[in-house]
Parts: sequence; C-alpha cells; structure tokens
Amino acid sequence: MALRTLDSLGSLDGRRVLLRADLNVPLHDGRIGDDGRIRATVPTVRWLTERGATVVVCSHLSRPAGSPDPRFSLAPVAERLEELLGAPVAFAADTAGPAASAMIDALEPATVGMIENLRFEPGEASKDAAEREDFARRLASHADVLVSDGFGVVHRKQASVYELARILPSAAGLLVAAEVEILHRLTTGPSRPYAVVLGGSKVSDKLGVIENLLPRVDTLIIGGGMMFTFLAAQGHPVGASLLETSQIDAVRRNIDEARRRGVRLLLPTDAVVAETFSADAAHTVAGVDDLERTPFGASGMGLDIGPDSAAAFADAIRSSSTVFWNGPMGVFEMPAFAGGTRAVAEAMTEVSGLSVIGGGDSAAAVRSLGFRDDQFGHISTGGGASLEFLEGAALPGLEVLGWQP
Ligand code: AMP
Repeated sequence: MALRTLDSLGSLDGRRVLLRADLNVPLHDGRIGDDGRIRATVPTVRWLTERGATVVVCSHLSRPAGSPDPRFSLAPVAERLEELLGAPVAFAADTAGPAASAMIDALEPATVGMIENLRFEPGEASKDAAEREDFARRLASHADVLVSDGFGVVHRKQASVYELARILPSAAGLLVAAEVEILHRLTTGPSRPYAVVLGGSKVSDKLGVIENLLPRVDTLIIGGGMMFTFLAAQGHPVGASLLETSQIDAVRRNIDEARRRGVRLLLPTDAVVAETFSADAAHTVAGVDDLERTPFGASGMGLDIGPDSAAAFADAIRSSSTVFWNGPMGVFEMPAFAGGTRAVAEAMTEVSGLSVIGGGDSAAAVRSLGFRDDQFGHISTGGGASLEFLEGAALPGLEVLGWQP
C-alpha cells in the first residue's frame, strides 16, 4: 500500500490538525544552533493554514527523562517558527494539560500553535504500549486529524508517531512524503555505481546498517571515529583513538563479507593524529601503519582521516552515480580536524547523479562548514530513520501511514 499523503485527508477548512514534526534542533544555552529541521517543517505548516486548517504543532526535543525540564523547552523553537512563518505561533507550557487545551481553544481558524516537548510526558517514549496508547488518546483530543511530518522519528514506535496515527485520521506531511520518495529511489534500483559513506563516532551503532547495506551497494566508504575499529580489525595499532574492542570480531566479519560480495570497501590509508582531544592540540598526519609512531606515541589519537584518504574518498564519491552519506569523517567541530568532512562534502556537491546527506547532524556539519543545502541532491532530516529505511527495515511511523517497503 502507498503512503497516505495530505490529499487523502479531504477538505481541511475549519478543521484542527495536529502536526507531528521533528523540531529536535541543537540548543546551546537556550539558543538554537542549526535550524534546518524547523525550516523543513514550514512548507507543511503553510500548506495546512492556506487550506483553512488550524495547526497545532508538536515535537520532541532532545531526551528529557519523561518529565518537564526547562533546558529542553520548545519555547525558543516556537519563536523561531514564528519568525520563519512571519505569523504568530501561540505556545502552551504543557502537552496535554490545561495550558494546551486553553491555547488550542483560543486559536483562530488558520493560525498556528505549538505545545510543549512531547518527551516531558512519560507516555510518549514508554516501552509499555498501554501507557503510549493512553498518552496518544490525550493528544488526540487536541485535533480532528494527524499530519505526521517528523521524519527523524518514523523509526520509533512512540505515542505521537505510531499509536496516535491509529486513533486519528492520519497522513504524511510534505516532508515525510518527500523523504520517502527520495530514499525509496535509493532502495529500488539506484543508478550505479552506488556508494555509501559512513562516519561518526560509534561503530556499534552502524554495524547492522553495514551488514544490511553490503548486498545493495557497490562501494562502502568508512571514516570518522568508527574507522579505528576497522583498522584495528586489520591489525593496525590505533593508539588512543576511539576503539570499540568488543566490536572487532563483528567488523572483521563485515570486512570478509564485503570481500565475498565484491563490494569495494574503502578504508582510510592515513589519519590526522593529535596529542590530545582539543581544538588547539599538536597534530600530525600518519599512515595507518604508523598511528603509534608519531611524536605522541601510543597516546596519540586519530581525529580525522588524512589528506590521502580524503582524496581517495572524494574520487570514489565523484565517480559514483548515487551516493548516500551519514556521519562526519572526523571531529569537524574543531577546524584542525574538519578537513576530511569538508573534502567529502565538496565531493558530494560534484556527484552527477543523486547525492543524499542523511541526518540532521550530518546536515548541520555540512552547513557549519559553509555549504548550502541546494548544493546537494537531498538532505534528509533523519539520520537513524534514513539509515533504517535504506536497510529495508519496517518503520512503524511509516507503516501506520500505509507505507509498505
Ligand atoms: P555520531 O554521533 O555517531 O553521528 O558521531 C558524530 C560525532 O563523531 C561528531 O561529534 C564528531 O566530532 C565525532 N567524531 C568523528 N570522528 C571522530 C574521531 N576520529 N574521534 C572522535 N570523535 C569523532
């Protein structure tokens, strides 16, 4: 069955729509960092209000422990949405309590309100289905219809993503529909060669992805902190670099499987090794055989791929027809260790076919290095969700909207 889209909802004039968005933006002391996820929600909000709907936006922000925590209030996000829309956004200081009811009752037709962080309620992310169901019923009382547009959470069985979509008439918003359309192209006959580039810190997060992608890709490129577990699996001493010893055997199996399937596995041949984990640390470039033979000895830590690896990765990316990239190549937050991520981003802008950046964090990395969104084919707002989609996993938040992989 196909994804139910906005047109399936019929006339929305005068109706109340609960819009489940993913507004989980980086916050530093209450100030918003990259606002890409808020921008990505604007077209759906406009689409709905232009058709006469009253829109109640809801989202999670970060991971509060199921109770109110002012550090994770959505209030600054409501303000930013107001600026981007150029129209008022009313805000309620709870999700399904008296403040939310009063705010929603006071909304004029075709205007916008936002309720507080869904994860301030234990029912949102509870493991207990009955608790989630209960919270979803309380949320359902806010509206006639649910529009599900938080792509970053569609892989989660959470109250506002899954149970709520079974209680209210529901459909995917413009963002979720666009994400599914692009990612579906990657899973059904991508134009080849097809390369996937994976980085980020933890290999344990990505092993399942790698295993599931091996039958689908021509080239797999590995950088970031996770590369050191691969290098260790090949027998290279990695000093004080990030290393998940418990994953070495599993990584070795992945390497063997790549060879068996004829997948080109590109690992770094050099790295930028630093004396300490800090922006102004002394650092040098070393080949992967010599990571412990720098002036920093066995306490040196690899914080980026080296220039030779960056050039080889960039070549492989440029010569692919379809490329999906998730996770930075190094500690891009520190300029001395951003070179690998920058080189990969640059190469992504030169892909002649479809280039997709997966994940709000990867997108934020690329934007912080000065790249523009329109330099890439598509920037997905969901890292985990896009990876699971590419693996062919069943995503509860999409299945409940009628999508079958
Ligand atoms: P993840 O949360 O798994 O997507 O990883 C993103 C984080 O990985 C970023 O904050 C990077 O700074 C970090 N990272 C990337 N490469 C390395 C590395 N070589 N050593 C330590 N951290 C890294």
